[in-house]
Amino acid sequence: MKAASFVTGLFAASMLATPAFAQTPPKPKLIVAISVDQFSTDVFNEYRAGFTSGLKRLTGGIVFPRGHQSHAATETCPGHSTILTGGRPSRTGIIANDWQNPALERKTKDGKPIFEVYCAEKPGAVGSNAADQEISTQFLRIPTLGDRMKAMTPATRVVAVSGKDRAAVMMGGKTADTTIWWIGKAFGTYAGKEASLPPTLAAINARATAAIAKPLIQKLPAGCASHARAVPVSTTETVGTLKTRKAGNAGGWRATPEFDAMTLDVALAATNQLKLGKGEATDVLAISFSATDYVGHTFGTSGAETCAQMAALDATLGRLFSTLDKMGTAYAVVLTADHGGHDLPERNAANGLPAAERVDIMLSAQAVGGRLAKQFSLADNALIGRAPFGDMYLRASVPADKRAAVRDAAVAFYRAHRQVVAVFTKDELIAAQPPAGPVDEWSLIERAKASFDAERSGDFLVLLKPYVTPIPDASFGYVATHGSPWGYDRRVPILFWWKGAAAFEQPNAVETVDILPTLASLIGLPVPASEIDGRCLDLVAGAESNCGK
Ligand code: ZN
Repeated sequence: MKAASFVTGLFAASMLATPAFAQTPPKPKLIVAISVDQFSTDVFNEYRAGFTSGLKRLTGGIVFPRGHQSHAATETCPGHSTILTGGRPSRTGIIANDWQNPALERKTKDGKPIFEVYCAEKPGAVGSNAADQEISTQFLRIPTLGDRMKAMTPATRVVAVSGKDRAAVMMGGKTADTTIWWIGKAFGTYAGKEASLPPTLAAINARATAAIAKPLIQKLPAGCASHARAVPVSTTETVGTLKTRKAGNAGGWRATPEFDAMTLDVALAATNQLKLGKGEATDVLAISFSATDYVGHTFGTSGAETCAQMAALDATLGRLFSTLDKMGTAYAVVLTADHGGHDLPERNAANGLPAAERVDIMLSAQAVGGRLAKQFSLADNALIGRAPFGDMYLRASVPADKRAAVRDAAVAFYRAHRQVVAVFTKDELIAAQPPAGPVDEWSLIERAKASFDAERSGDFLVLLKPYVTPIPDASFGYVATHGSPWGYDRRVPILFWWKGAAAFEQPNAVETVDILPTLASLIGLPVPASEIDGRCLDLVAGAESNCGK
């Protein structure tokens, strides 16, 4: 902590000079930045006492249990864009996984018009969020930690690896040496950048193919028995009991611990290839583990599946740290998440939260836009939107003389619905003040402003009440999700660790945008405050501080 006054500072320095100095973080040769997709503070708190390996090590470091992905659009792409840039989505430009551009004239391969823009697409490519999508960093408006380090010291090496393209892209940035993600059947990279892949990647991909081809029978870990209770989600399906994954189910494989384990194998292969931490400059290894998110969406966050996933994640992180220990490199770790999450309403309603429910499908842009088309005698559906909440856009085909009236009618309809807590128009968001004060106490419009971009955001934004799960029907394979402005989706742990770090815990709310300036302080990287939204977090338990004046 910073000393409260000069006198206190002198006192602390004279009494604690040696220990305080010893606590000052050594300049790391390698920064290891980890994101665990959908690792909410709620899940972290539920399991933290039981960690025995990698997560135990991190909980013995500097713990901010109430980190915040502070914006309203708590999705993967915006969340990952904040972690290593210091910017909220309003600054990174990554306001959602997908947004709409009503002026876009693109068609899918089978000829359907599509207005959707994927956050990590290469603009101009056909389709969106599809297997044939070309991936790029072009929508990210600001540099990542790695981009800044390489600009200052070109010898810096930057590697980003994830189960998801958008996570690797947003953490790695525009100048990363190696960016690797899972592409349906194998790990790969940007089109034309295949030469950057580690030579051992083919062997890892062969193991992944073999693993997918076999059924996976997971053993229920000790301590998970109390979580194993079947919860019906449709007339034929239940979740909660850790079932066997069927052979050949590549999508289901992502919701198993093997996915994270192989993501780590890829990250270590790239680390060896580029000799991270062994060169003259400090290097960056960014890893986003995706399995916790797929487990959360497929099975919810409170069953045997998440319990087993937490045990496996703990072990996978343990393997990462023991491998880095053997390399003998001085490394500093930060771990956080791109957003939190919320359990499925069926289990919540059964376990003391009767208010939990699923969203009314009549809130979809399709349904509301169809109703407006009739009301205003329009030739086409009036609205475009991806989900029954979030950014909503008027179609370009709505005539100029009717646009204001159609928008007002849409806003009035959403505002009157019992599951809607607020609707903000684009004009209201443009006029709103930027967020200020403690992040956990921000108003709803402040949260919305933090993921608003005048060019990319909708004509209005629909926010649902707490505990309304925005998946109308659980029979699609996704039973639970995130994406709301509520605490369960905004709160994520932020954990720092390096060898010799003195443990302390700061229970007050901080933000993931604080990570970039904090890491920058450890390596002497200048970052102008005007270019970011975060602030340096004091990681030293005592009068010393890693944050300069
Ligand atoms: Zn995510």
